[in-house]
Amino acid sequence: MVRTIGSMFPEAFRHLWKKRATVLYPFEKLELTYRYRGKLEFFDERCKGCKVCEEDCPSFAMEIKDEGKEQDGKTKFRRIYHTDRCLFCGQCAESCMSESIILTKEFELAESDKEKFTIESTYSTEIIAKEREVKEDG
Ligand code: SF4
Ligand code: SF4
Repeated sequence: MVRTIGSMFPEAFRHLWKKRATVLYPFEKLELTYRYRGKLEFFDERCKGCKVCEEDCPSFAMEIKDEGKEQDGKTKFRRIYHTDRCLFCGQCAESCMSESIILTKEFELAESDKEKFTIESTYSTEIIAKEREVKEDG
């Protein structure tokens, strides 16, 4: 049944006094829930180079490259995070036993330059252990 314009007035009038259901983004922003999963943040100084985050990522968004030994005996690693592939599932953070990865509430990730979707960092670490294999092997 087609409603006439006149029949819509009472409903429109009722809604004039109701609180708006949307926000005027980007001028207003909703408060995100504590469980919101946004862009990842890394604490490379805690990383052990085990690559479990890379293995567990379902979308190949994380790469941990072994760049060889440093003079001081540490091993150099390069982390490559592809934000454009990331599903923000949080699996990498869940899998990382050294709490080297956290999910932030950052969600405004649009870029005009596609190179900016790839975030790289290099760091050296002393401890290199595949903790999962150590655990599974008992
Ligand atoms: S799982 Fe954690 S410790 Fe292992 S490589 Fe990834 S960030 Fe580093
Ligand atoms: S949040 Fe999920 S998709 Fe993104 S890098 Fe981590 S495991 Fe991969």
